[in-house]
Amino acid sequence: MKTKFIFITGGVLSSLGKGICAASLGRLLKSRGLSVTIQKFDPYLNIDPGTMNPFQHGEVFVTDDGGETDLDLGHYERFIDESLSKYNNFTSGKIYGSVIEKERRGDYLGNTVQVIPHVTDEIKDSIKKTLITKTTDIVITEIGGTVGDIESLPFLEAIRQFKKDIGKENVLYIHVTYVPYLKTSDELKTKPTQHSVKELRSIGIQPDIIICRSEIKINDSIKAKISLFCDIEKEAIINAVDAKHLYEVPLSLKDEKFDEIVVSKLGLKCGKARLSSWIKIVNTINSLQENVTIGIVGKYTNLKDAYLSIIESLNHGGYYFRSNVEIRWINSEILEENAGMNEVFKDINGILVPGGFGIRGINGKVSAIKYARENKIPFFGICLGMQCAVIEFCRNVLDLKDSNSSEFDPDTKNPVIDIIPEQKNIGNLGGTMRLGKYPCRLIKNTKSFSAYGTELISERHRHRYELNNSYLKQLKNRGMIVSGIYEEKNLAEIIEIKEHPWFIGVQFHPEFKSRPDKPHPLFKSFIGAAIKNRSL
Ligand code: GLN
Repeated sequence: MKTKFIFITGGVLSSLGKGICAASLGRLLKSRGLSVTIQKFDPYLNIDPGTMNPFQHGEVFVTDDGGETDLDLGHYERFIDESLSKYNNFTSGKIYGSVIEKERRGDYLGNTVQVIPHVTDEIKDSIKKTLITKTTDIVITEIGGTVGDIESLPFLEAIRQFKKDIGKENVLYIHVTYVPYLKTSDELKTKPTQHSVKELRSIGIQPDIIICRSEIKINDSIKAKISLFCDIEKEAIINAVDAKHLYEVPLSLKDEKFDEIVVSKLGLKCGKARLSSWIKIVNTINSLQENVTIGIVGKYTNLKDAYLSIIESLNHGGYYFRSNVEIRWINSEILEENAGMNEVFKDINGILVPGGFGIRGINGKVSAIKYARENKIPFFGICLGMQCAVIEFCRNVLDLKDSNSSEFDPDTKNPVIDIIPEQKNIGNLGGTMRLGKYPCRLIKNTKSFSAYGTELISERHRHRYELNNSYLKQLKNRGMIVSGIYEEKNLAEIIEIKEHPWFIGVQFHPEFKSRPDKPHPLFKSFIGAAIKNRSL
């Protein structure tokens, strides 16, 4: 079968959940036996979100091949259960960067380089790059931003041209809009949708399907109205009413026959949607029994998007135990001021210290870890969280009071976390980290080994600093062992404390590989330990 391309644009407002619509469509099509990949175009000028403030932009999602990408890729992976690549996310910065590089190399043979055709050609090539690693039946491409934004124009022009290039039978345009509900007149209003579609048509794109996001259900007469004004048959107007949680969206879109209309419009030959494992997980989510409370000690605690994949992974662990994970946000900077720890951690069943960069709040994280270690509260350290656990252990158990990471104190006498020699002398901040997947061998008879139940694992990384091997012996003598290593470079990937109910720190980011119906082994095991701790 020839690959089909589906483009998803957004109108009226941002934050409509285009990413979730794309991910849900991916799930529905995959469940019909089709192979699917999902791509996102982000119209901003940064090369990638790697150097962007997570407070503004949310987490940086890392792919197996080391791409630093938009958090929507996390939704895509969790919904379609496929590992995506760096080719699944392009920004305007990356597109323009590559055009300018070609210009400097003389690839354009002296021609004037212009948005049309050079930038649009680059965008069209980038759509096809999703097929480099694996050919799929379907490529879904989400265009970030809202129709009418100046910066997304080249992308819209490119997808307009794309249809002509590869044949109209191979392309589908889906437009996601908002239908507001006016309480005072008890009415749903279609005008913003009409305007948005008009705007899209003015640049030459006639949507094939409209997804109407709304607070309350849209009735048939509203659909008929949108159908009339936007020139789209009523069956292709799909209502996505506010869902209780993300994972319900594929099912509610299926109720609206979204997958059927996509399949029929593209003439796809495939089976019926088989969603039993997804339905099972949604039923579980809707009937969670008890609460388990996890304290997350971090810097960006007032922006949930900065820790999106961690929150999702904790939830996945909770689903396994039919427990609702309640998250308590603890600002590490407050802990630095020697807050009453018992009060702060009252009713908290497990403590998680996530990844991060920079010295702010470090001592607060170290104090939280000391509290978890001494009070036998399940502790999970991720990347920077693992590094802080080592610093804490060295300071308070090995009594090396000035232990630090050379990231925070380059002159410390005890750089227990340090940069490995081959990484030194790299000045440029963008893209200079240990990024993407690395193999890790687990040591038998450890908690990590029993959580994974296998010896060889692969996890994704995003960091510069590593545990300094010259301290391994001392750590081991006092009870902190390395339970996972990257053998080729002899790097410690996992540490744990033997004499503690559950104390694990990982140098990688396990949160990128958890799925709602396949919780990551460490998150599952951590939530299990927190539940046990709650019942003590
Ligand atoms: N700042 C630390 C490093 O670069 C940890 C990074 C992280 O937590 N992602 O090694």
